[in-house]
Amino acid sequence: MGFRALLTDRDDAGKVSSAVTEIDEARLPEGNVTIDIDWAGLNYKDGLCLTGGGGLVRNYPHVAGVDFAGTVRDSADDRYAVGQKVVLTGWRVGEVQWGGFAERARVNADWLVPLPGGLSTRDAMVVGTAGLTAMLSINRLEAAGLTPASGEVLVTGAAGGVGSIATALLAKLGYTVATLSGRPQHAEALTALGAASIVDRNEFLAQPDKPLESSRWAAAIDCVGGKVLSKLLKQVKYDGVVAALGNAAGIGLETNVLPFILRGVTLIGIDSVMQPFDTRIAAWQRIAETFDIAAYGDLVREIGLEELPAAADQILAGEIKGRVLVRPR
Ligand code: NDP
Repeated sequence: MGFRALLTDRDDAGKVSSAVTEIDEARLPEGNVTIDIDWAGLNYKDGLCLTGGGGLVRNYPHVAGVDFAGTVRDSADDRYAVGQKVVLTGWRVGEVQWGGFAERARVNADWLVPLPGGLSTRDAMVVGTAGLTAMLSINRLEAAGLTPASGEVLVTGAAGGVGSIATALLAKLGYTVATLSGRPQHAEALTALGAASIVDRNEFLAQPDKPLESSRWAAAIDCVGGKVLSKLLKQVKYDGVVAALGNAAGIGLETNVLPFILRGVTLIGIDSVMQPFDTRIAAWQRIAETFDIAAYGDLVREIGLEELPAAADQILAGEIKGRVLVRPR
């Protein structure tokens, strides 16, 4: 039986484009669980996959979509029964494997997570890879000793998916959150999520650059990398800790050793893609307990498969507010 998918292909000249296509189920990749997808999410990485960026997709034609939630349609794995609600993030699904921009997916059961109690499949995609990564970052910062009493936590790329959910989660957990954003038009939305202050990205970057700057942040969650991460590292307080998770501003990082050897600053790398099952389950559970999804509603936009190529360009241009959800049917 066929299903609709956004099929991404590359022509002989190397141009990558996508179109909604009817696909025969026999073309689904190997796997032991087949899922009817209710919702997928749009992530920065999907923007790259849909435009051929970053060399993430090697084999065409391809179905992108790095996260999705849905209902088990067919299972050859004891852990998953027909009708069960599941969520998938990471494991290079949507990059190396066919992903969530389709009505149906077939995957390895090891990559799935049963939907945490209380969450709908739509809720799970409001959270998505973005929210999971935000939670994993907070968990790592806290494991390094961060508590609400430590002081201000800076979130960069704050109006995007990871940044906005990190802001909401930190505020709910009692942290004082400062958000760095290049888009003042979203300041009100960030304040509503619990941001105590907004730092203008241009003003932040325009400050004179010194090897070590006045210390302000107890911790930071950095979604953008590049010059922003380089500068904020010099402003982290003694014994502070920074979680680096993104590269929206580039993969470069120019720094010096002074924040590390004079202030004992710790730089932690966050990867959500290859996290083991138990770590994922614990993070999803904490999200279900902490994240006020209703209060995040103004930052959610729903689109269909046809609208994805335009949305991919928008996310790469840093123009998406919060989370974009994809309804494949
Ligand atoms: P979004 O596009 O939703 O958010 C990125 C935000 O970064 C933008 O909203 C913008 O925020 C800011 N930004 C964009 N371009 C620039 C720029 N040139 N300079 C400075 N800031 C910029 O993406 P996601 O939230 O989905 O992902 C954020 C980053 O995290 C991406 O690099 C993504 O690849 C990475 N990521 C990593 C994961 C991991 O496992 N390590 C998992 C998920 C995402 P504002 O306008 O507020 O400044």
